[in-house]
Amino acid sequence: MTNETAITLPDHDWPEFPPGLVWLVGAGPGEPGLLTLQALYALREADVIVHDALVDPRILEWRRPETEMEYAGKRGGKPSAKQRDISLRLIELSRAGKKVLRLKGGDPFVFGRGGEEAQTLVQAGVPIRVTPGISAGIGGLAFAGIPVTHRDVNQAVTFLTGHDQSGATPSAIDWPSIARGSQVIVIYMAMKHLKQITGNLLGAGRAADEPVAIVSNATRPEMRVLETTLGKAAADAQDHGMEAPAIVCVGRVVALRQVIDWAGQLRGEPVRDLDPLGTGGTRQVS
Ligand code: SAH
Repeated sequence: MTNETAITLPDHDWPEFPPGLVWLVGAGPGEPGLLTLQALYALREADVIVHDALVDPRILEWRRPETEMEYAGKRGGKPSAKQRDISLRLIELSRAGKKVLRLKGGDPFVFGRGGEEAQTLVQAGVPIRVTPGISAGIGGLAFAGIPVTHRDVNQAVTFLTGHDQSGATPSAIDWPSIARGSQVIVIYMAMKHLKQITGNLLGAGRAADEPVAIVSNATRPEMRVLETTLGKAAADAQDHGMEAPAIVCVGRVVALRQVIDWAGQLRGEPVRDLDPLGTGGTRQVS
């Protein structure tokens, strides 16, 4: 499917995209096929696309040739567009009567400041629409063969950010409660402070041999997965040159990758263990 007709959308009651609307859309973790149909529709309809660094370039290729593109990248640590400037620009484009697509990596409301932008736009009287996307902390892990919940392991999952607005590890995180209350912990933006984060969890009582996976560039051709433990994660990540963007998953669900690493299996790699948790798995099926 390489031609224009392959992305002609089926007849459907697509949401209206009138001039002046700012449509805040999640682009998913990378792989273009993980876009929602609404995201694709908005891409094909927009006059201007304001996108983040995390939006995969392959996705932007699906716009119409005449669609304008503006980069509003924000990357931890590097100088980049200020949040206020991005919001003001969106307001300006709306007032100029453009159909504005604000495209963000993953889901716009998961550690993506989509809520801040939406609030500012509404405060300015700009009409908005929101389309969620697949968040890296769920979909990215699924691509690595890790289910974020699994009945034999966890009844809860906690999503954390590894840094706050200032770039430091968030001081508001109550590590002892999270360590005690959440069998699985998924950490966004964890790479810069990985040593401190894993140290906090160890200090709060989590075991040093607890499984950890680091998934960088999830769903993209350059995706890499490092399986390690809480005690060794920071050193291993450095030794293996694991780079952002990466998701860190702490918990026994990581062990399930030994059986569910479907991408590896499709490449011909063997299943390492059919029952890594020792709980049976396929109990019902003979
Ligand atoms: N809104 C996004 C998250 C933005 S915060 C979402 O819902 O996924 C940026 C962080 O997201 C990165 O530092 C990384 O932790 C994570 N991330 C985004 N895309 C990723 C990818 N393809 N692979 C691994 N991590 C990713």
